[in-house]
Amino acid sequence: MKRAILIHPDPRLKKVSDPVPDLSDDLRRLADDMLDTMYDAPGIGLAAPQIGVLQRLIVLDCMKPDIGETPRPLVMFNPRVLAGSDEKNVYEEGCLSIPDQYAEVTRPKVVDVEWIDRDGNPRTETFDGLWATCVQHEIDHLEGKLFIDYLTPLKRQLITRKMVKLKRDRARV
Ligand SMILES: [Zn+2]
Repeated sequence: MKRAILIHPDPRLKKVSDPVPDLSDDLRRLADDMLDTMYDAPGIGLAAPQIGVLQRLIVLDCMKPDIGETPRPLVMFNPRVLAGSDEKNVYEEGCLSIPDQYAEVTRPKVVDVEWIDRDGNPRTETFDGLWATCVQHEIDHLEGKLFIDYLTPLKRQLITRKMVKLKRDRARV
């Protein structure tokens, strides 16, 4: 089931999310809803706070079906970056909570991440390139951090003002 995505600025997007306790069917359903919402958007990642749930859960899939890649939906409960490479990567990032705004963000190129998967099993994996950027972006959401927080205050204000206007326009219809 699709959920509504919160648009910045929203106080819930600035909060630190709580760790997920034992997995439950409710939490698995929430993860499935997040995947539905992400694919529908369409996007390559979504964090629970973006649908107003302040729990440490993210979903992502950076495969490109349009060039024949097989989808790889990942569900991560309590994800944590264990280590990041000194080598950096610059990607033009966007965010489903900040529609149609993109900016270059520099992050470690390779990261080791640990998480609990949909079946409750602990997992660790090394991510590179777009996957590394995406997983770091989503984990940032769990700390109440957005990609625009890496930009200069001026750029951040400019984007925030556009989002305020967007929300006003949407509320009007
Ligand atoms: Zn985002």
